[in-house]
Amino acid sequence: MEVSFPTDSDGFLSQECPSCEQQFKVVFGEGSEEPISCCPYCGYTGRDCWYTQAQVDYMQGVAVDVVLAPELKKLEREIKQSSGGLFGLSTDIPKPPASPIEADGDFTLLHFPCCNETVKVEKHQKHFCIICGMEIRMEETEAKKVFLSHKGVDKDLVKDFKQTLELLGYDPWLDEDAMPAGTALERGILQGMKDSCGAVFFITSSFKDEGFLETEINYAIQEKREKGDRFAIITLQFVEDGQNGEIPGLLKPYVWKTPETRLEALREIVRALPVFPGVVDWREDITGVVTTPAAKSKSTELSDEAKTILKSAATGDGRIMHVRYMGGEDIQCGGQQMITDRDPRAVARWVGGLEDLQRRRFIRDLGHKGEVFKVTREGYEAADDISDDWVAK
Ligand SMILES: [Zn+2]
Ligand SMILES: [Zn+2]
Repeated sequence: MEVSFPTDSDGFLSQECPSCEQQFKVVFGEGSEEPISCCPYCGYTGRDCWYTQAQVDYMQGVAVDVVLAPELKKLEREIKQSSGGLFGLSTDIPKPPASPIEADGDFTLLHFPCCNETVKVEKHQKHFCIICGMEIRMEETEAKKVFLSHKGVDKDLVKDFKQTLELLGYDPWLDEDAMPAGTALERGILQGMKDSCGAVFFITSSFKDEGFLETEINYAIQEKREKGDRFAIITLQFVEDGQNGEIPGLLKPYVWKTPETRLEALREIVRALPVFPGVVDWREDITGVVTTPAAKSKSTELSDEAKTILKSAATGDGRIMHVRYMGGEDIQCGGQQMITDRDPRAVARWVGGLEDLQRRRFIRDLGHKGEVFKVTREGYEAADDISDDWVAK
């Protein structure tokens, strides 16, 4: 027997850890071919134990309906026949439950390169690969800044690099930008290194006394030891007017380059960093092309009708009425009629919008057989994202 579940708008299905009871989402039939073996939150290991309670209930309900119901019906007939109609068996089989709703929710998309597996999770400090169980510390995953270390007199040169790296999508930072003076300075440098995936040392001819950068170099070396291939030490020796700076002794165990031009220096940085810049794609305002997003969208856009219903309800009393009457139906928010076009297609779009809002848990059925709905907390948040002058076409 096969039971299928609806997925969220990105094709993900909820799963739940039997140990910590937290939910995550996966796509079946994509990524790793191995089964889920590890909870992404607590690291609990197990097989075939990841269905949510709602999914288990649904599967049991379907099983009763498919397997048990016909058997009972048969039994009922047999008893009736063999007793000549004297005895009956009343079979009261519960109707199969509705399949669980898969809301989009507020999840973060994570890809585990170790097993080529993509999951949706609520972001925590650390996560485990759901296939191989490898522990990932998010703090290190997010440490993608680039520390630009230099002497004060070289600030113009370094700023030039900073602006170009930013344009390429990197997150470079100069020690002086963000840091107070004095003892807090060292703490600032240390934190900066921790948030970075590499440190670039600009050694120019003005660079003679290595003592000046000693703290930064020491911290960078410490990061390199801790992070391994997730941190790069990049030393660039610039030659100006035949003059060049001295490579500090502490940096000598690491590779340094002597680029002839600034562009060559930039190439060295981009090549050496463990993170790579953005994929080349069309800008948003260019027409006549399609773009290829790197990841699936977090949630699909609401339809115009759904937006209008949600916005009207959220600015009104938070209630939505779905009224059915002879020869038609209407959706009303704050006494206002939403469906003005009686064309069946238009009506279907409005009702579809209402159903979509319910699926995303932006509105909740108040228990009047799908006639009255109330905007939920998530619904109000979503409504805030819709601009105030939003008008449906
Ligand atoms: Zn768990
Ligand atoms: Zn893995």
